[in-house]
Amino acid sequence: MDRYALVIGGERIATSRFADVANPSTGAIVGRMPLATPADLDRAVQAAAAAFETWRLVPDAERAEACRRIAATIEAHAEELARLLTEEQGKPLNGLGSRFEIGGALAWTRHTADIELPVEVLQDGEAGRVELHRKPIGVTGSITPWNWPVMIACWHIIPAVRTGNTVVIKPSPMTPLSTIRLVELINEVLPAGVVNVVTGENEIGALMSSHPGIAKVSFTGSTPTGRKIMASAAATLKRLTLELGGNDAGIVLPDASPAEIAEGLFWSAFINNGQTCAALKRLYVHDSIYDAVCDELAAYARKVVVGDGFAEDSVLGPVQNRMQFDIVSAYVDEARAKGARILTGGEPAGGQGYFYPVTLVADVDHGCRLVDNEQFGPALPIIRYHDVAEAVRKANDNAAGLGGSVWGRDLEQARRVASQLECGSVWINKHGAIQPNAPFGGVKQSGIGVEFGAEGLKEFTTIQTVFC
Ligand code: NAD
Repeated sequence: MDRYALVIGGERIATSRFADVANPSTGAIVGRMPLATPADLDRAVQAAAAAFETWRLVPDAERAEACRRIAATIEAHAEELARLLTEEQGKPLNGLGSRFEIGGALAWTRHTADIELPVEVLQDGEAGRVELHRKPIGVTGSITPWNWPVMIACWHIIPAVRTGNTVVIKPSPMTPLSTIRLVELINEVLPAGVVNVVTGENEIGALMSSHPGIAKVSFTGSTPTGRKIMASAAATLKRLTLELGGNDAGIVLPDASPAEIAEGLFWSAFINNGQTCAALKRLYVHDSIYDAVCDELAAYARKVVVGDGFAEDSVLGPVQNRMQFDIVSAYVDEARAKGARILTGGEPAGGQGYFYPVTLVADVDHGCRLVDNEQFGPALPIIRYHDVAEAVRKANDNAAGLGGSVWGRDLEQARRVASQLECGSVWINKHGAIQPNAPFGGVKQSGIGVEFGAEGLKEFTTIQTVFC
């Protein structure tokens, strides 16, 4: 069994303790995660701080070129990374699975390499010249979740190093191996210490968010953990980008065509088995087409193959871990007990692995956890509404505000409804379609700050205003 190592200061550092990482499809152990100690974290922060002294001075064009070389290395190892990802995360190699995720990591890396943040001249006249410069912050900490581990690692690492920062990344203990391998590859390109990885249980993340040597934390994960990080970052006034949980609503207007939107709706909700921050998690459908939308969705769902990630025909895999599997099961059971109608799925498959079938739940409303909370799994509640104002009110009746969508033929009307949704991104006739040039982030309790594009890059800089 492969024993992985930390990567600190460009070297593989062995630990004395390990934890097994299992394939969620089979339970088979796929590798051993090193358990970093607090002293290992200190060494990683020191290595990153030492590297910062030179990396911050490297000309911008060279840092851009280094990011392009990282992309080339990822591309050369794409299949290896995809297979490792399927082993530990469970998602299929095909469809919107591991190969797709590595493709996304590449696209974001390449795009971010090419973004410039030039000096802005705010004033240039007799009263003097005023310039706005952007400077790196220092050592950044990256804490990532288990749903899209490689792509999210790139969302944190690449903008950080592009702007002259250095990084200590701590992946989720559920999916650490692909991040370790990614950091090994990045270390073939970048100077020692610019990107370091420490792995371990949640405590290492907690230590990072209070560590005096870390100047900024990029965190992607759940809202409760985001709150803890914000609290423990306060003592050292760290900069924070928090990409947290969502409970995205989609509203299907009365003029939508059920047959035309069914496939889009399905993948909006079930991409990565629903384990996606900006997946569609609550669907509001007008009474006049409610039954037709339910029928079209159920017909599509019955054709979807759920299975081991390495099986050629699987388009969805297992739920990634026991905890999430239990949450999804409990939420569906509660909805059923309250009178909801299960259109497809609803019972765990049984046998090996955390397989939970694609589950559509009709005749359900607010007041049960499947609607009120983030289910983060393959179960979609479909809520009937009678007038659009009611749907908008219910869509906004949630503490989360990550994404939202409106589905209908009259695009002007759809845009008007979309503008009323309280969320950081809103889509018309699609959902969750993020891209590297468009800022992405949550409002309300879905986060603070944005990622992607120039706006995202700026979050890895501090402003220095120069008066001359
Ligand atoms: P999680 O919050 O349980 O864990 C995320 C990371 O935080 C892991 O690396 C974990 O080890 C670490 N962690 C746990 N406790 C910590 C603490 N006290 N201090 C510091 N770090 C700690 O989240 P998860 O279950 O891995 O991921 C699922 C959640 O992530 C969902 O809520 C999902 O919506 C959210 N998510 C959001 C986005 C986004 O962009 N908004 C993207 C992906 C996932």
